Amino acid sequence: MEEPAHERPELRSSSPTYPQKKGMNGMTKFFSLAAVFLALISSSGGAEKTVVRFTSGAAVELSSTALEPGGILLVKWGPATGVKKMVVRFGETAYESRIEQGKTQAFALVGLDLALEPGPHDLRMTVFLQDGRIEEMKHTLVLKDREFAVRNLRVKQEFVTPPPEVRERIRRESDLLQMVYSVSREHWLGEASFDWPHQGKNAGNFGERRVYNGIPRSSHSGLDIAAAHGSPVCASNSGRVVLARDLYFSGNTVILDHGLGVFTIYCHFSRLLVHRGQTVKRGDILALAGSTGRSTGPHLHWGVRIRGSRVDPEALLGLNLPE
Ligand SMILES: [Zn+2]
Repeated sequence: MEEPAHERPELRSSSPTYPQKKGMNGMTKFFSLAAVFLALISSSGGAEKTVVRFTSGAAVELSSTALEPGGILLVKWGPATGVKKMVVRFGETAYESRIEQGKTQAFALVGLDLALEPGPHDLRMTVFLQDGRIEEMKHTLVLKDREFAVRNLRVKQEFVTPPPEVRERIRRESDLLQMVYSVSREHWLGEASFDWPHQGKNAGNFGERRVYNGIPRSSHSGLDIAAAHGSPVCASNSGRVVLARDLYFSGNTVILDHGLGVFTIYCHFSRLLVHRGQTVKRGDILALAGSTGRSTGPHLHWGVRIRGSRVDPEALLGLNLPE
C-alpha cells in the first residue's frame, strides 16, 4: 500500500539536474527555433509514435503507451544520423543517452510524474553530432487528463500521525531514500522488457488520492498486487539492489536500480532474500510477501521512479525497449 518517501506533495523539487556545459569552442551551434516537425508513423498497438527530425538530419523517435500523468515517454535514436550523444530535458530533469557498446540504438525513459498538470509541456532535446555540431530542438508534449480515485482507508493511528519517538527515524529514512534515488548507473542494466513481479490481482490503484483515518495524505505512487503471506516476489527486470531493509512506512523494502535513472520499488515483505549491492536478473526472487509497515494486509506494493518522477508500473510493462 505504501512506498518510501511518499509524503511528497511537491513535484520533484530535488530531482537531479544536468550540469550546463559552458563554452562550446570550435563547435557550431545552431538552433531550430521552436521548429517542431512531427511525422505520425503509427498509432497501432496502443503506442503512439512520433519522429522528430533535426535540421542536421538527426532523427529521434518518441513513443508512449499513454501521454498522461504517471506515463512514460520513450526517446529512442540510432547512430545512423551522426549523433553521438543526446540530452533530453523535461521540467527540471535532464536525461542523457549514448550508444552503448554492442548496441545499435540509444534511449532515455522520461518519467511523467503523477502530479503533472494535463496540457502542454516542453521537451527540449539536444543532439551532439560526431562532427562537433550541437543542435537543439523543442517539442511540445500534450498530456491527456487522468482522473485518480479518492479512497478512504483505516490504518493504525501511529502511521497517520507518527509518535514523536519515530519522527527521527522517519527523517533519517527519508534522507536515505533521497540519496538512494539520486544515484543511478549510467548504463542500462535491464532487459528489453519488464515483467510483473508477482502473479496476483492488480488493484489498479496507482495515483489514488489517499485519506487515512479521515486525514488526506499524498497520492498512492504505486500499484498494489494481491500476494499471500510468504509468496515469492521477483525482480521485474535485471538491475542492482540499492536498498534492502526495513523502513517505517513501507516495511521490508527492496529497491532496484536498472540504470538511466529507472528504479523499481517493492514493499511490505515478511522476509528479504537479497542484500544491498547484489546484482539480480529479471525473474530472480527478491523477497517473500507480507504486511510490514503501513499496510492493511499481505500484498505487494510495486512502485516505479524515473529520476524522481512517480510513474505507473503498468506504463513500464507496455514499453518495448531496444535490445
Ligand atoms: Zn500500495
